[in-house]
Amino acid sequence: MKKRYVYLFDEAYGLGKELLGGKGAGLAEMASIGIQIPQGFTITTEACGKYYADGQCLCQELQDEIKKNLERLQTITGKKLGGEQNPLLVSVRSGARVSMPGMMDTILNLGLNEKTVQALAKITGNERFAYDSYRRFILMFTNIAKGFPRREMDLMLENLKSEKNYQQDYEVPAEDLKVLIRNMKAWYLENVGEKFPEDPWQQLIEAIGAVFHSWENERAIIYRRMNGIPSDWGTAVNVQSMVFGNKGETSGTGVGFSRNPGTGEKEIFAEYLINAQGEDVVAGIRTPLLIDELKKQQPDIYYQFEKTAEKLERHYKDMQDMEFTVEDGKLYFLQTRSGKRTAQAALKIACDLVDEGLISKEEALLRVDAKSLSDLLHPTFDSKALEKATAIAKGNPASPGAGTGKLVFNAQDAKARKKQGERVILVREETSPEDIIGMVAAEAVITARGGMTSHAAVVARGMGKCAVTGCSDAYIDEETKKLILHGKAYGEEDVFSVNGSTGKIYAEEIKMEPAKLSPEFLRLMTWADEARKLHIRANADTPKDAITALGFGAEGIGLCRTEHMFFGDDRIFSMRKMILAKDVYSRQAALEALLPFQKEDFKALFVAMKGLPVNIRLLDPPLHEFLPHEIEQMQELASALQISLSEVKERISELQEFNPMMGFRGDRLCVAYPEIARMQAKAIIRAAIEAKQELGLAVEPEIMIPFVIESKELKFVKSIIEEVCQNEIEAAGVEMKYHVGTMIEIPRAALLADEIAKDAQFFSFGTNDLTQMTMGLSRDDYSKFLPYYYDHKILENDPFQTVDVQGVGRLIQMATNLGRKTNPTLHIGVCGETGGDPASVEFYHSCGLDYVSCSPFRIPVARLAAAQAAIKKVLSKMR
Ligand code: ADP
Ligand code: MG
Ligand code: MG
Repeated sequence: MKKRYVYLFDEAYGLGKELLGGKGAGLAEMASIGIQIPQGFTITTEACGKYYADGQCLCQELQDEIKKNLERLQTITGKKLGGEQNPLLVSVRSGARVSMPGMMDTILNLGLNEKTVQALAKITGNERFAYDSYRRFILMFTNIAKGFPRREMDLMLENLKSEKNYQQDYEVPAEDLKVLIRNMKAWYLENVGEKFPEDPWQQLIEAIGAVFHSWENERAIIYRRMNGIPSDWGTAVNVQSMVFGNKGETSGTGVGFSRNPGTGEKEIFAEYLINAQGEDVVAGIRTPLLIDELKKQQPDIYYQFEKTAEKLERHYKDMQDMEFTVEDGKLYFLQTRSGKRTAQAALKIACDLVDEGLISKEEALLRVDAKSLSDLLHPTFDSKALEKATAIAKGNPASPGAGTGKLVFNAQDAKARKKQGERVILVREETSPEDIIGMVAAEAVITARGGMTSHAAVVARGMGKCAVTGCSDAYIDEETKKLILHGKAYGEEDVFSVNGSTGKIYAEEIKMEPAKLSPEFLRLMTWADEARKLHIRANADTPKDAITALGFGAEGIGLCRTEHMFFGDDRIFSMRKMILAKDVYSRQAALEALLPFQKEDFKALFVAMKGLPVNIRLLDPPLHEFLPHEIEQMQELASALQISLSEVKERISELQEFNPMMGFRGDRLCVAYPEIARMQAKAIIRAAIEAKQELGLAVEPEIMIPFVIESKELKFVKSIIEEVCQNEIEAAGVEMKYHVGTMIEIPRAALLADEIAKDAQFFSFGTNDLTQMTMGLSRDDYSKFLPYYYDHKILENDPFQTVDVQGVGRLIQMATNLGRKTNPTLHIGVCGETGGDPASVEFYHSCGLDYVSCSPFRIPVARLAAAQAAIKKVLSKMR
């Protein structure tokens, strides 16, 4: 059978988001449960694939199918595209599988031309409305189908308004609009190089192609990368008959959430604009009013909206984000989808839906985006400092959170200044989706226009970025980079603080304090802990980090890096002495001096962790990292050691390596200088003994040997450690267990894991080095060429952030199986960046590892991700 690419909304129910895109699926589903929508049809995501396969063109076959369905739509509506009696006007709307708010483009009022605009004026008896719609269409077509910035045409309207002294768009009368349209078309002819298309069919085909084309526009690509959306999904296109919110006083358009997307509170949260079209609200062109206006003006419509919102919420068992339009007192729904929400709102809604009996705890756990939890752990304003500060302006509390930094007036500057280590606040007249790069870089976002449901607000909430929108007192001059508030100008050097929870803005820096965790957070975490199989540990080197990690629910330390412990003022000198030592004796003397420092550090860590597992890695980096680079410091070192400067220099150059990442580091240091391992083992075991004897803590230290490639090598270092530990334990006369194991971070070790496991009590996969060496990808250099790999879709993720399941993952799975074969009690974990990445955690769960370890602020993310992995596995088995 021939593949079908086009479906009417009425016949598409159940075909799924993969094929219809989110918007199309939502429209089909609303139609099926009896909610009033304007009719139309969906061109599937597969058609998008075909469009690209055919070299970015709509083949004849596809055009024929579109035409056939357009005819069906004409029959249903009794209107005709291009009809001079009763013209059909449509919107052409993009809709990917998952919602990408504002990332792709929509064209409204398509089908208007010199003739149909007159027909529209006649039928509606509203000339102003007809020409306003036409103006909008020309603008959107030029911008979206032809790719020209809106700016020039927007300016034409602004100039007209100021010339004739009109305040609002809707005050501009038909006669002026006609002139404006003539000017816009002239501009089009001059700049696009052809006449503005009069033929509605041509308009339609170009618009559909443009929506497919927009799948590959820059902001869509950036958004996909940030959200891990595969580039081959494509977008669907919806062609839908227009309903008009710009017909007069009993018309309007709105956007609403069935619950508060900022806090999760169960209350309708919506905005409404009288006499306007949808794009005015979502693009933040006019700042809308709260829905209460509609409630006052047309209470029946309001209650109908409220009831439908509830129906949709019960149907989808989730908070909905809806678009609606009122045309002449008649309510139409145009879109529904699961609403984007802040992390805190997600938690509250998930808990409430469980309490309302709509979803199970497991479903609730799956509802919350694990990554977003880290938003909740970020600092907020210190409440005392906040009280003392005086706000200088207020806007909409569009996305909660706190941010302080210097002002920046465009996305590029934000990115550049952030790169230089500055904290910045992005200030815009209104944010367009192009600003996304700047939003990522900024601590907070301020806009002068736009409401709570503008794209800026939606995107900010999705990113967990603090934002205040519609700060109407602010005048922003983007050219001269000034923010003018109550007659005072602020520029790029001024520091502001932004409170996204109250909408208040301060022209000063306000102190921050650590976040407080909400009851919903704790509740969900308890459910997560019940569901997960993986244990979660932290990468922590200091008692302070350890305490933070415990607060977030860490069950141990998976990686304590000992090298940081050598950098303190009181120890770096002994360390350098050790490195510069000419013989074993002077090296031992220097190490002897370091021993007490190391022991105290480890003891403090054991004490902080209260007897939970602590895994300590022996010294890993190459020695030259500890030596001075500046001539003055070299001189100082030379005189302290009573050697010549040239001797110091000589030793430094001796230690220089061409490729330190694969050089003299890790257990290679122990093989060359066993006394280093001996000192560290002594410090660890003594610290454990003292913690046990003095505080009764059940410490069982785990001593981890990095960079192993060979079981003989492991045996060699291990025997040194064991000898030291046995002696210390005997001397102290205590019972003390300890564990010696290895990192698996060199491919050879993974390949020989069965041999290595015979001498290891545990493995810990160091995914940073393992990725670097498996992929031959230098961690310090790859970011230079990674973008090209993204551009050509060779890689879609950074393999250092999300484990490369196919390659590195295969080694991990293999080494796990091999290791357990020769050592069934082998304890296995992961340390390294990927330990806190949800997609990677899912993989580690499926590998059957015992734990993952990540930085303290990622612990809640990992706890939830581990629970989600376990639940998904059970669900997939049930299917
Ligand atoms: P986005 O995904 O950017 O929100 P949409 O396709 O949802 O784009 O459309 C943008 C705006 O235009 C929305 O407010 C929507 O409700 C409105 N809109 C889209 N199609 C129609 C239509 N057929 N009639 C009236 N308004 C429409
Ligand atoms: Mg929309
Ligand atoms: Mg390593």
